[in-house]
Amino acid sequence: MSKRDYYEILGVPRNASADEIKKAYRKLAVKYHPDKNPGDKAAEEKFKEAAEAYEVLSNPEKKQRYDQFGHAGMGGAGGFGGYSGQGMSMEDIFEQFGDIFGGFGGFGGGSRRSSRRTVNRGSNIRIKVKLTLEEIAEGTTKKIKVNKYVPCDACDGSGAKGGAKGATCKTCNGSGQVTQVTNTFLGRMQTVSTCPTCNGEGTIITDKCNKCWGDGIVRGEEVIDIKIPAGVEDGMQLSMSGKGNAGPRNGVPGDLLIVIEEAEHEDFIREGNHIVYDLYLNFADAALGTHVEIPTLGGKAKIKIEPGTMAGKLLRLKGKGLPSINDYGRGDQIVRVNIWTPQKLSSEEKAILEKLRNSPNFNPGEGKKDRSFFDKMKNMFN
Ligand SMILES: [Zn+2]
Ligand SMILES: [Zn+2]
Repeated sequence: MSKRDYYEILGVPRNASADEIKKAYRKLAVKYHPDKNPGDKAAEEKFKEAAEAYEVLSNPEKKQRYDQFGHAGMGGAGGFGGYSGQGMSMEDIFEQFGDIFGGFGGFGGGSRRSSRRTVNRGSNIRIKVKLTLEEIAEGTTKKIKVNKYVPCDACDGSGAKGGAKGATCKTCNGSGQVTQVTNTFLGRMQTVSTCPTCNGEGTIITDKCNKCWGDGIVRGEEVIDIKIPAGVEDGMQLSMSGKGNAGPRNGVPGDLLIVIEEAEHEDFIREGNHIVYDLYLNFADAALGTHVEIPTLGGKAKIKIEPGTMAGKLLRLKGKGLPSINDYGRGDQIVRVNIWTPQKLSSEEKAILEKLRNSPNFNPGEGKKDRSFFDKMKNMFN
C-alpha cells in the first residue's frame, strides 16, 4: 500500500513555512471535521490523513527525517509500526491538535475527550546496530538483547501490592481532572486542571508493591528481533514503537530507536547507493587485455579488461550496488582501474623494461591524455 506524500495531502509546496503548514492543516481539519460530516467515512479518512501529515510536518525533527527518507524514514517500511505506520485514532488527534480548532465556533472538540486521565509513558531507548554492507544490501533481522524497564511481575505492573487495582481517586472521582468554576466579570469561567491528589492518574495506590515501590516497572531485559530494511545508511534512525521502556503502572511503553552504524568493508567504499572497488592490474594485463575475477556484494564476478586499458578507467557493473531504501532500483558497483607499478625488479625484468623504455608505443603521445576523465567520474557518481 503506497502512502500519499504529506505535502501533497496538505496541498503545500515542499518549502512551505511552519505557518503555511499549520494554516493548510487547519483548513482541511475544519473541512473534514467529524462534527461537520457526521457518519461520513471518507471525510473521516481525510481528517485522519491530514492529521498524520501535520503530525510529521509540524515537528522539525520528524519533518527533516521525512524530507530525507520519505515514508521509509518514518518507520513505515519493513514492518516498523511507527506512528505513521498505524495512523492516528480520532482521540489522538483531538488530544494532540485540539488547540488548532480553538477559535472556530462549534469545533471545541472537548466533548469528544472521553477522559483526560494521565497515561504514564515509558521513555524511549536508543541503541546502535552495526551492519556490514552485505547485510545492508539484503536487509536483515538482528536479535538484540535490550536492557530496559519491564512491567513488575510481582504486581502485574500495577504498582499495588499483589496486583490489586488502585482505589478510585476521591478528589476527581477517577477522571484525573478537576473542574473549577469561578465568577469573573466576563461571566462564569470553567477551568480544568490535572487532579493534584492522583497526579491525573485517576487512581491511588494505598498499599505499594514492595518490589517496584509502586512504580510498576523494574529493570529487566528483552530479546528483540529488529528487522532492518535493505539500503539503510550510516547514521539513519529507525524506530519500533512500543519496544522502549515500559510505562509506569501499566502505562504506554516508549519506543526503541535504532541508530544504524555501517561497518568498514575491506573491499568496498560506499558512495550513496554505489560501491567503489579499486582494481590493480599489471602493465601487461592492462596493455594486452585479460579477464579478472573481482569481489561483489553477491560473491565473485568475472570482468573483461579491454586491451589498452588506462589507469583511472571506471567500469560500471550495473545493479551490483546497494538498493535504495525509498524507491525501487539499485546502485552500481564501480570498478576503478589502477596500474600496479612493480616495487622491485629482477635483473631480467629490468632488462626487458629497459628494452621497452624507448619503444614508441610504450610512451604517451600528444592528445592521448583523457581529458574528459573528471566529467566521466562526475557522471558515474550521479
Ligand atoms: Zn511491583
Ligand atoms: Zn484524582
